[in-house]
Amino acid sequence: MTRVGTDVLVIGSGAGGATTAALLAEAGRTVTVVEEGPWIDPGAFEPFSLEEMARTYRHHGSSAALGVPPVAYAEGRCVGGSTEVNSGLWHRLPAELVEAWRRDYDIDEFTPDSLDRHAEALEAALSVRRLPGDLPPSSAVLARGAAALGWRSVEFARVFRYGPDGRAEKQTMARTMIPRAVAAGATILPGCRIDRLVTRPDGPGSRRVVAARGRRRHDDGSVGDLVIEADHVVVCCGAVQTPALLQRSGIRRGIGRGLKLHPTVKIAARFPDVLDHDDVPPYRVTEFSPAVAIGGSASRRGHVALALADSGVPFAGALADWERVFVYYAAIRSDAGGRVQALPGLRSPLVTYRLTDSDMSRLARGLVHLGELLLAAGATELYPSVTGGPVVRRVDDLGAWWDALTPARANLMTVHLTSTVRLGQDRTRTGADSFGSVWGHTNLRVNDASLVPDAPGVNPQAGVMTIAARNAEHFLATT
Ligand SMILES: Cc1cc2nc3c(=O)[nH]c(=O)nc-3n(C[C@H](O)[C@H](O)[C@H](O)COP(=O)(O)OP(=O)(O)OC[C@H]3O[C@@H](n4cnc5c(N)ncnc54)[C@H](O)[C@@H]3O)c2cc1C
Repeated sequence: MTRVGTDVLVIGSGAGGATTAALLAEAGRTVTVVEEGPWIDPGAFEPFSLEEMARTYRHHGSSAALGVPPVAYAEGRCVGGSTEVNSGLWHRLPAELVEAWRRDYDIDEFTPDSLDRHAEALEAALSVRRLPGDLPPSSAVLARGAAALGWRSVEFARVFRYGPDGRAEKQTMARTMIPRAVAAGATILPGCRIDRLVTRPDGPGSRRVVAARGRRRHDDGSVGDLVIEADHVVVCCGAVQTPALLQRSGIRRGIGRGLKLHPTVKIAARFPDVLDHDDVPPYRVTEFSPAVAIGGSASRRGHVALALADSGVPFAGALADWERVFVYYAAIRSDAGGRVQALPGLRSPLVTYRLTDSDMSRLARGLVHLGELLLAAGATELYPSVTGGPVVRRVDDLGAWWDALTPARANLMTVHLTSTVRLGQDRTRTGADSFGSVWGHTNLRVNDASLVPDAPGVNPQAGVMTIAARNAEHFLATT
């Protein structure tokens, strides 16, 4: 049995947890971070490789939100969380959404200006910048198609540092906030999964966490019990695992409902020329944003094979020519909501998501627009992620996809999950107050993607870290 005592316990070491740990440790607090996954040296695996998926993703990268259609999703599970496996695309929360959320959820001190101050500091710490040099061919496809159609498009910044030789190094949490936390005295315990928080009454209508209980995997492979006693507990396990842990601990009010995803359809597009396949394009077509976002996906040989297989038609010829094939996507902000439910006796929660009819028609619109764009950029053959969806070679044939994209035939995925413990003062619609304190608990906070009140319509890491930094500052000012 391992017993640990600490001032602040941070559970989970991803975008939210690592930011929280660094800022609290640098302010002189005694911080212990527990992370279910292992420590993996940054750069140990080829990005987007099968080996990386096997070692650093939960369930080797394949999880699903059940529904009709189901939505496949992925979460990182290692020190640094999903930031170790993501594409590092950085996009601040759109100001109009921040304003709308402040009103809808009654969130105190939540304005674009107050968040921008934290975003700027994080951007300096993570070396957020644009790609040096020309756009790679996979991004140029998006720029060319948008220009031909007169659609708005934009190059994104990423959390990358570039060496004098042009070598790019993604600034993940294991390279940035985790070392900062350690340098300021924090302890990081990899291989430690918290199963349950033990709470006791702490005054009328209020409870207090007295211990976190779980299991620790030691370096020799043995597994033992783990008990941590802390003055303050901050749960940062991500939008699926955070509500699951709280529910396993008997904390259910406002927890686990309201899950938001960016449901995504894909097209494997074949071109006359060879494209680059090492990276995800830092470029996006914003003509239909925030309802529909269009961009490029990881497109190594395995990803191309999976995307071609999603079309459910013969694809041997396209796969043999995979260096000329690249995977592009259309992602929507959906009306739908989902739910995370911890089930007794099961290690993983049940995740469900119910797409509406208007979500399905928004996805079809996204697919058809994406097809138009790729043909305008010079693609010769399009394989949609719709089982039996016809392969398209001419704009006139795109109309067939409107009918083909049915709930039974759509193959959807996402890597953006949020909103399972929303923040705000409106207790009827949130699980935590304006700064992430879980309602009804004196020393329990959430500080990760779960707090984001709704789907951001953009890549979420920047918003997650910005809100986490804001809440860490509030914690330091009030405890
Ligand atoms: C493949 C992929 C690509 C993506 N691309 C981008 C992108 O380009 N740009 C962008 O902005 N966003 C991207 N995202 C999303 C972004 O990475 C996440 O939104 C963000 O990391 C969420 O932060 P978080 O702190 O909530 O959770 P995570 O970063 O997922 O961290 C949660 C951590 O908690 C740990 N944990 C869970 N349960 C327990 C437990 N019980 N005990 C101990 N530890 C636990 C997990 O193992 C994990 O390490 C991508 C995500 C994926 C998976």
